[in-house]
Amino acid sequence: MCDSCGETDDLMTEVFRLYITPASWDTEASTREAEFSEKWCGVCLAHYPHRVA
Ligand SMILES: [Zn+2]
Repeated sequence: MCDSCGETDDLMTEVFRLYITPASWDTEASTREAEFSEKWCGVCLAHYPHRVA
C-alpha cells in the first residue's frame, strides 16, 4: 500500500519525501529531506517531490 495516498499498486518505489520551501522576499528557497523512506505508488511519484532511495 502506498504510504502517501493509501492506494494499492503492484509497483511501489522506496523514496525519501522532499519538503520544498519556495523562496520569498526574505528567505531563500530550501529543500529538506524526510528522515525515513516511504513506499510510493506511480501517481504519487508523478505528483510529489522526492528522491528515490
Ligand atoms: Zn500513492
